[in-house]
Amino acid sequence: MSSVVIIGAGHAGTQVAVSLREMGFEGKIQLIADEPHLPYQKPPLSKGFLNGKQTVENLLFRNEKFYDDNQIELVLGEEIVAIDVENKIVKAESDKSIPYDTLVLATGARNRKLSIETKCEVLYLRDLTDAQRLKSALENAQNIAIIGGGFIGLEVAASAAEAGKNVTVIEAQDRLMARVLPPVLSEIFLTRHQEMGVKVLLNTKLSSEELSAFDLIVVGIGVLPNQELAAAAGLECHNGIVVNEYQMTSNSVIYAIGDCANHFNVFADKRCRLESVQNAVDQAKIAASHILGNAIPYHAVPWFWTNQYDLKLQMAGINTDYDNYAFRGDLGANRFSIFYYKNEKIVAADSLNRPADHLA
Ligand code: FAD
Repeated sequence: MSSVVIIGAGHAGTQVAVSLREMGFEGKIQLIADEPHLPYQKPPLSKGFLNGKQTVENLLFRNEKFYDDNQIELVLGEEIVAIDVENKIVKAESDKSIPYDTLVLATGARNRKLSIETKCEVLYLRDLTDAQRLKSALENAQNIAIIGGGFIGLEVAASAAEAGKNVTVIEAQDRLMARVLPPVLSEIFLTRHQEMGVKVLLNTKLSSEELSAFDLIVVGIGVLPNQELAAAAGLECHNGIVVNEYQMTSNSVIYAIGDCANHFNVFADKRCRLESVQNAVDQAKIAASHILGNAIPYHAVPWFWTNQYDLKLQMAGINTDYDNYAFRGDLGANRFSIFYYKNEKIVAADSLNRPADHLA
């Protein structure tokens, strides 16, 4: 009977294990995670978990019994350090060797680091351990600097501001979330943060000395794909592990899915990596289908969301290449959608507090 080994038990890795069983796979499934926790959701780490509305139990995808009942062997706290593609074995840091027939790489991404010399504590947010550390540091800090005005930095800023902290967001670009949002939405989020007392410094980089004035620094300046394991095994990598439309890497028994996978996206019309739950879950289903002999190409519409205070923004499609756009809704009340068109065809929609538009 064949065996599937999955490296990484985040959104993508856990989904591929679950989908394989749902689709009738009867072989052995081993889900290996370097983290010690049962697999959990990441989005609440900067939202509900940080502001105390969600506990660790609320974050778990499934309880331990689910994995037992479905014969998904969880191997927790075990980092895989090498793949021997010739002998089809992965090697763990503990020296353990695990054989596979099919291997799925769901290794995600890690935070881009900033080299700053400062006297105060500098924290990042990627996993549950980071979030627990950040949550307790926030309780003890009053003056907090957030470096990076992207989604994660701003969600942390919102949680900290709601907890009554003095928050300063430092962004090198001239507007917030500039990589993915149009100016009108950047402006709305800027205004809301300012109304909540957050100081937002645009076009700014502070020196180590200036940063030393804060109690705590939180850095959110993007991520890098965890592709080193794949690259060392000779798999093609370029801004992620290169996969085809079925999530197969340059080795036909190894798949890559989620944040670590570089795929050709039909909506972006180019190769890219997407960092979202939707992408991780949908690519996992495509890989599971292909492992079971059903070749369904990955053509899912990308979507993403962010919650900051009372602003819930949902994005569908890719809004970087359009020749026309239209508004629907009430701009003044922060309840509207922007529809983006190319050659008279809708290519993306951003919906602010208009969930029905997003669903449509
Ligand atoms: P991950 O979930 O990162 O899982 C990869 C796992 O692999 C990790 O646990 C890692 O430790 C493990 N691993 C890596 N290398 C090894 C190894 N060698 N051996 C063993 N294990 C290994 N997305 C949204 O769509 N909406 C949001 O609102 C949103 N908010 C977010 C908020 C935060 C704070 C963060 C961090 C992310 C957020 N995201 C959001 C992004 C989303 O969580 C990711 O896109 C998603 O987790 C990607 O899933 P993945 O399985 O590819 O990677």
